[in-house]
Amino acid sequence: MPRIFSGIQPSGELHIGNYLGAIKNWVALQAQYESIFSVVDLHAITVTYTPEDLRRRTREMAISLLAAGVDPQQCALFVQSAVPEHAELQWIFNTVTPLGELERQTQFKDKASRQEQVMAGILNYPVLQAADILLYLADRVPVGEDQVQHLELSRVIARNWNSRFAPADQPYFPEPQPQLTPTRRIVGLDGSAKMSKSLNNTIGLLETPDEMWAKLRPAVTDPARVKKSDPGSPDNCAVVFGLHKAFSTQETVAEVETKCRGAAWGCVDCKKALFEHMNAELTPIRSRAQALAEQPRLVDDALESGAEKARTIARQTMAHVKEQMGLA
Ligand code: SF4
Repeated sequence: MPRIFSGIQPSGELHIGNYLGAIKNWVALQAQYESIFSVVDLHAITVTYTPEDLRRRTREMAISLLAAGVDPQQCALFVQSAVPEHAELQWIFNTVTPLGELERQTQFKDKASRQEQVMAGILNYPVLQAADILLYLADRVPVGEDQVQHLELSRVIARNWNSRFAPADQPYFPEPQPQLTPTRRIVGLDGSAKMSKSLNNTIGLLETPDEMWAKLRPAVTDPARVKKSDPGSPDNCAVVFGLHKAFSTQETVAEVETKCRGAAWGCVDCKKALFEHMNAELTPIRSRAQALAEQPRLVDDALESGAEKARTIARQTMAHVKEQMGLA
């Protein structure tokens, strides 16, 4: 089975954009690949935060992932800092990564421009990403087409380390390839390009039906539909129609097309239909999350068994790396 690695930042409870864009893919992939999934808390400390908040967000993320269907029997799910080899390999990779490669990263330029004082961790963030993947000798990383270039630096680092410390005909680290996954970019409820917690335009995966409806009801729709009798176009309704395509049945999606264009129902009717389909998918997830929150031991056990699986591979990799580098 090919091995894949993927990580998610501990941003607390998942929102439906994360769920549809990434986590549903994880759930599908775990049956087809040896899957290593991590809540990457070491990536979350490059910005100001409080320890209590980070701990809470990490826990909530783990509960959301398990509730959404990430199955500890089928994959290794763990918190990144529970496997110290991530940071250890990152340091080693820092020594084979040209500074220019890091300074060129658009992510670095973006983040640095938004901060008064730029810490070295922001610059070295992609080196930790490379360590996350290569620690497990993962040959594939599930990404959407727009993220393919982010993997290039991991390949450069793998090549650089191999060329210095591995025989020419036996490279040790694989150059990880993108495992293209059908990503859905979920538009924010306010119609902005992306659903994002920082834009406050999301619906939390575990929100109650009342909370969900309170957010869905005022969501942006086709501006041509002022009155119920105005014909509209689902193509101009990226938020509601986008969510219908993600949650509703094909029959309902076809019904939306017809009724919207024919002014046969109002936007509130359309949103009510969506709300029902969303609830059908999300209710079992909410119930599982509640059960997990009430039985913290189940979450601890799942994360600990995932960390143990991950550590076994990580220790083997580090033993080989150190041996080759004269460190052991
Ligand atoms: Fe959007 Fe539905 Fe209203 Fe059409 S009827 S504009 S798809 S909410």
